[in-house]
Amino acid sequence: MILDEVNAVGERLHRFPGGLRLRHHKQVACQQPVERPPLPAVLVVPMRQQAGPEATPVVSVGDPVLKGQLIGGDPSGLGARVHAPSSGRVTAVEQRRIGHPTGQTGTCVVIKTDGLDEWPPTEPVPDWREACAVDLQAQIQAAGVVGLGGAVFPTDRKLDGGRAAGIHTVIINGAECEPWIACDEMLMREHPRRVVTGTLVLMRAAGAEHGVIAIEDQMGAVGAALERAAVELGDDRVRVVRIPTIYPEGGERQLIQTLTGLEVPAGGLPQDLGILCQNVATADAARAAVIDGQPLLERNVTVTGNGVARPRVLRALLGTPVGELVTAAGGYTPGAARLVIGGPMMGYALHDDSEPVVKATNCVLVLDQAEIRPTQPEMPCIRCGECARVCPARLMPQDLQFFIRSGQLDSATDIGLEACIECGCCDAVCPSHIPLAEWFRHGKAESRHQARERAFADRARERHQAREARLEQAKAEKAARMARRKLKLVSDDERKRQVARAIERAKAAREKQAGAPPSTPRDGEPDE
Ligand code: SF4
Ligand code: SF4
Repeated sequence: MILDEVNAVGERLHRFPGGLRLRHHKQVACQQPVERPPLPAVLVVPMRQQAGPEATPVVSVGDPVLKGQLIGGDPSGLGARVHAPSSGRVTAVEQRRIGHPTGQTGTCVVIKTDGLDEWPPTEPVPDWREACAVDLQAQIQAAGVVGLGGAVFPTDRKLDGGRAAGIHTVIINGAECEPWIACDEMLMREHPRRVVTGTLVLMRAAGAEHGVIAIEDQMGAVGAALERAAVELGDDRVRVVRIPTIYPEGGERQLIQTLTGLEVPAGGLPQDLGILCQNVATADAARAAVIDGQPLLERNVTVTGNGVARPRVLRALLGTPVGELVTAAGGYTPGAARLVIGGPMMGYALHDDSEPVVKATNCVLVLDQAEIRPTQPEMPCIRCGECARVCPARLMPQDLQFFIRSGQLDSATDIGLEACIECGCCDAVCPSHIPLAEWFRHGKAESRHQARERAFADRARERHQAREARLEQAKAEKAARMARRKLKLVSDDERKRQVARAIERAKAAREKQAGAPPSTPRDGEPDE
C-alpha cells in the first residue's frame, strides 16, 4: 500500500500542514542572464563548507595551485574534499571567519590568483551510462559535491548504499521557496539539459528507476524547458512536477509529503521511503563531476534586494568575497541597511562583506530600511495558537519556547525540538513578536552542547572506572604473587628439613650396619 503511494511520486499532490503564502520578489533577480563576476585577486577557501569534519589542508604557503587541484583532503571520509577554485599561489593557510551564522572561524586556504584560470587535465568517468553506482559515487566524492540547497550534506554519503537501501526515486528539489532567491530557477531556465542530465546521473548513482524534478507553479517557462530537455535526451524516466507555491515547500520533508502524502518518520530519512532528495544545483554539480571530471568550484548566487543597484544571479567562484559580488551587481544603494546571507526567513545577518562565498551560499540579500521589519518589543505569549497553526512540522512552538526559556531542554526535546526546520513561519505570525525560531536555534545548539558534555563526562567516568578496575586487578595480582612466594619459601624450608631427616636416617642405618654405636655430633661440629 505504502509502496504503491511511493512509487507514484508526484502523480497526485498532497498538502503538508501549516506553511505561509509569501510575496516572492524573485522576478527582481531574473531580469538579467547569469553572469560571471571578474576573477577575484584573492580567494579565501574555507576547509569546512559542509556538514561533517573540516577538510585537512594538503597545500602550504608558497605552493602553486591549478584550478580544480585538491587543496583540502577528507581523511575521515565523513566530510568533503575542497579544491582550488582558480589557479595561482597559496599565500596563507590560517584561521578566518568562514561565513557562518555564529561568526565562527575555521582554517582557510588563501589563494592569490594568477589570472590564467588554468586547469590540469580532467578525468571524467568514460561512459557514465554504463558505469556502476560505486564508481559514480566515488567520482562525486572526489569532486567534493555536497547538497547545495542549504544543508550541505556530502552527496556521496546520501547516495551510499542506494540500491541496497531500496531507493527507487530521485527527487530533484527545484522548489526554491524562500522569497528573493532565484539561483536555482535561473539554472533550470538557462541549463535545463544540464539539470535533467544531472538527475539521470544521480539516478544511476543511487540505483533508482524514477526521477522527479519538482518546481513551483510560479516558475513559468521553466517547467516546459525541463520537459523539452527530457524529451531531447530521450529518457522518459524523468518527470517534471509543478507544486503549489507555499513556504516552506522546499524543505525536504515538506516536499516529499507534497509529492507522496507520506511523512518521513521522526528521526528517519527519506531513504526509509525509498526516496533520495537532492537540490537542482547539486544535480548539476554531480553531472559536472561525472561527465566533465570537474570538482565543485563555483555556484549560482542570487545577489538581490533593494540595497543592491542591479540585482541578478551571478556564477561565483567559491572563496569570492561577498563584497565583490555586490560590486559586480552594481554596488550598494544609498539606502542599503542590512546584509543577509540566505533568504529573509532562514538567512542570517552578515557584519562584514569580506567573508567568502561557500558551497552553501545561495543568496546575498541586501535590504534597505523599508524592507526591514521594525524591531517590535517582545510581549508575553497570549496562547493564541497561531504559531502552531502555521508550523509545517506539527510542533507547538509556544510550548517549545517556554521549555527552552525555562531551561527544560529535555522537555523541549521530548516534544520535538529536533524536528523544527527553523523555517520561521511561527515567528512571522506571532502577534507578541517573540523571536521563536531564534529560541529554537539556541535550544538546539544548547541541547547538542549539553549532549556533548554528557558524552564527555560519561567517557571520563568510564575511563576513571576502567583505571580503578585496572589498579584493583594489579593489587590483587600483586597479593597473589606475594602469597605464592611465601608458600614457596615455606615449602623450600620444609624440603630442606625433609632432606636433612633423610640424610640422618641413612647415616643411622649405615652405623647400625657397621655395629658401631650411633654417633652424636661433637660440640662445635655442624649437624648434618
Ligand atoms: S503565536 Fe506567539 S503569542 Fe500566539 S501562541 Fe504562539 S508564541 Fe504565543
Ligand atoms: S520554526 Fe520550527 S517551530 Fe517554527 S514553524 Fe518552523 S518548524 Fe515550526
